[in-house]
Amino acid sequence: MNIKNVTVAGSGVLGSQIAFQTAFKGFEVSVYDINDEALEKAKERFKILMERYQADKYGTKEEVAAAYNRITLHTDLAKAVDNADLLVEAVPELIDIKRDFYTNLAKVAAGKTIFASNSSTMIPSQLVEFTGRPEKYLHLHFANEIWKLNIAEIMKHEKTSPEVFKEVIEFAKAIAMVPIPLHKEQPGYVLNTLLVPHLKVSILLVVDGISEPQIVDKTWMISTGSPIGPFGFLDIIGPNTPYNLYNAWGEEGDEDSAKVAGWLKSEYLDKGRMGTANGKGVYTYPNPVYQDPDFTKN
Ligand code: NAD
Repeated sequence: MNIKNVTVAGSGVLGSQIAFQTAFKGFEVSVYDINDEALEKAKERFKILMERYQADKYGTKEEVAAAYNRITLHTDLAKAVDNADLLVEAVPELIDIKRDFYTNLAKVAAGKTIFASNSSTMIPSQLVEFTGRPEKYLHLHFANEIWKLNIAEIMKHEKTSPEVFKEVIEFAKAIAMVPIPLHKEQPGYVLNTLLVPHLKVSILLVVDGISEPQIVDKTWMISTGSPIGPFGFLDIIGPNTPYNLYNAWGEEGDEDSAKVAGWLKSEYLDKGRMGTANGKGVYTYPNPVYQDPDFTKN
C-alpha cells in the first residue's frame, strides 16, 4: 500500500474519530478545520477519545498518547494537505460546503492525493466534478464510534480507478476496519440501505398500534439470534438523524415517514430522550432491560 500520510478535513464528530483511529494505527495525520476555535474543540474531542479508547480497552495510556502526538492541526488547507497520499473529507453534510471545499482543495492538493468523502447521504457523482481528479475520488464511510463499530464502506463511481479502489480498501484494513466494498453507487451504502427501511417499519408497527417496542425487539432478537433489536439500536443512533431523514421524506409527501417522524418527536425529542447519549430512550441506561438474559425468555 502506498498510503502513508493522511489528511482529515473537518474535525467534528466523525473527523476527529477518523483522525485519531488513523494515528492510533501508526499513520502521521494532518487535521484541517476552518479556524482555531474548531481546532480547540478538536483537541477536546481527542482527549475524550483517549479516555474512551482506554476505558474500552483498545489502548494503553502510552499508546493513546503516542497517537495524539502523531496528529498535527492546521487551518491552512495547503499546508494540511501538503504531501498527503489520502485526504478523508468529513466536513458538514451540506452540498454547498462540500462543493466549495473540493473546489478549494483541488487547487492546492498534489496530483498524487486520493480524495475520499465520508458523506453519509451523498454519492460520489454529486461531488466528483469539483474534485478535478475523478479517477482518484471515491467515498469512504465510517460509523460513529469507529474504534468499536469498525466498518468502512468504500464506494466507487464510474471513473474511480481500480487501483485507487484497492488502495483505499487496503488503507481501511490498515486502520483496523472491516472493508465493505461497493462496486456501484448506492445512496445509503450497504448499511443504511438495510437500516433505514428496517427502522421505519419497526416504528410503524408501534405507531399503527400493532405492537410495542419491547415486543418488536424480542421478536427480532429471538428469531435472528441478534443481541439487540431495532429499538435498542435506535437508542444507540439517537433520534436526531432518523428524525431529520423521515421528517424530510414526510414533508415530500410520504405519509408513513411523516408518522415515523411524529413518533420520534413525541417519544424522544419532546421528552428529552436522546438514547444512549443521555441514558434515556426506549430503554434506560446503563443496563437496558433487553440485555437481561430473561428478556428473551418470557
Ligand atoms: P460535525 O458537524 O460534527 O463536524 C464538521 C466539522 O467540519 C466541524 O469541525 C466544522 O468546524 C468543520 N467544517 C465546517 N465547514 C468546513 C469547511 N468548509 N472546511 C472544513 N471543515 C469545515 O459533522 P460530523 O457529524 O462529523 O459529519 C461530518 C461528515 O461525516 C458528514 O459528511 C456526515 O455525513 C459524515 N458522517 C457522520 C456520522 C455521524 O454519526 N456523525 C457518521 C458517518 C458519517
